[in-house]
Amino acid sequence: MNQGSCLCGGVTYQIQDEIGPIIYCHCQRCRKSSGSAFVTSTEILRSQFAVTAGHDLVQVYRVEGSLDRAFCQKCGSQLYSLRDATPKTMRVRMGTLDTVITKKVSSHIFVGSKASWDDILDSAPQYLERP
Ligand SMILES: [Zn+2]
Ligand SMILES: [Zn+2]
Repeated sequence: MNQGSCLCGGVTYQIQDEIGPIIYCHCQRCRKSSGSAFVTSTEILRSQFAVTAGHDLVQVYRVEGSLDRAFCQKCGSQLYSLRDATPKTMRVRMGTLDTVITKKVSSHIFVGSKASWDDILDSAPQYLERP
């Protein structure tokens, strides 16, 4: 079991299963939403995920036609995203996990639109868009 929380601690969650592959997404939407070079997420089954405290703090931003991005409305931490195209899975933001993770990053996606000032320095596979 893995546990996580937002910056203010108001929202906590748990993942029953092991986490999935760790993915760095360099697309512009992820850069905008995180204010950084990329978003780091892991894909898990929605059935394995549960918010354990602070349900009322979880706010969803709808990206028209594609996905919902959930964040804590008090501190702004991104928590997870739900893509319409993959109704059984979700992407949890790795930076919010409190459990110590031993896995390393598995891939970089949307490298074709990465920030010009960002150099990828590890040897994980890179994909221009999705693999
Ligand atoms: Zn919070
Ligand atoms: Zn992205």
